[in-house]
Amino acid sequence: MPVIGELLSCCGRQLESRLEAELLMAQSLDRPRAWLYGHADEELPHAAAERLATLVQRRLAGEPVAYILGSREFFGRDFLVNPGVLIPRPETELVIELALQRLPLGPCRLIDVGTGSGCIALTLAAERPAWEITAVDLSPAALAVCASNAQRLGLERVRRLESDLLGSVAGERFDAIVSNPPYVAAGDPHLARGDLRHEPACALSAGADGLAIIQRLIAQARETLEPGGWLIVEHGHDQGPAVAGLMARSGLAEIATHRDLAGIDRVTLA
Ligand code: GLN
Repeated sequence: MPVIGELLSCCGRQLESRLEAELLMAQSLDRPRAWLYGHADEELPHAAAERLATLVQRRLAGEPVAYILGSREFFGRDFLVNPGVLIPRPETELVIELALQRLPLGPCRLIDVGTGSGCIALTLAAERPAWEITAVDLSPAALAVCASNAQRLGLERVRRLESDLLGSVAGERFDAIVSNPPYVAAGDPHLARGDLRHEPACALSAGADGLAIIQRLIAQARETLEPGGWLIVEHGHDQGPAVAGLMARSGLAEIATHRDLAGIDRVTLA
């Protein structure tokens, strides 16, 4: 029978990623990844070896690791994911950091538009117990994933609504609107590559220039924000000036674009 350590090296070469090999191995054993370090000399049981072979095949066929594992870490917490939601990305943690910096510690009414897995809304709810948070999404499949995550994290207090942008909360007022909306241009070749190929198109692409959804969101935001409230929007690397321009034309003030850890313009707030 094959030894775990040797199989890891072999899968790591096949997948061109030691990390992915470890994640899939841990999954096949139903153990945490750290467990592998103390058990590299052990033989992999036959059933686990068969599971591993299937997982590696799926990965080699291009399926995102997060969908294979069924979860992805975001801001220190695990979020369930499936092909009905965008996979949480590290650059979106900038939305969290800016919200935590700018918004009051005390009571605050916040809405996360296009919540997907709920990673933004639920992270903020966990970090700020005093906030009253609403998570909306157009997709019932996404809201189901968000509900599972809310339950797992003990955050059922986060209100969840099916809504096209702010449509279902018309007439309500919020101190903050946060969003990682779809912002990839429809013809962008990235949509046909890597993980994006497997993710829901409705979570990614937004018209010819990728700005169609952000433009609608900004137009709706003004009448939804309390005076002095904040709008915090993630966007593409080259969309900062356009998003800032749309915000300015909509009468929003104190507009600033922030860079993510990769040094890329990623989030504009107003
Ligand atoms: N940041 C994602 C990507 O290009 C896109 C996410 C989005 O459209 N909100 O991989």
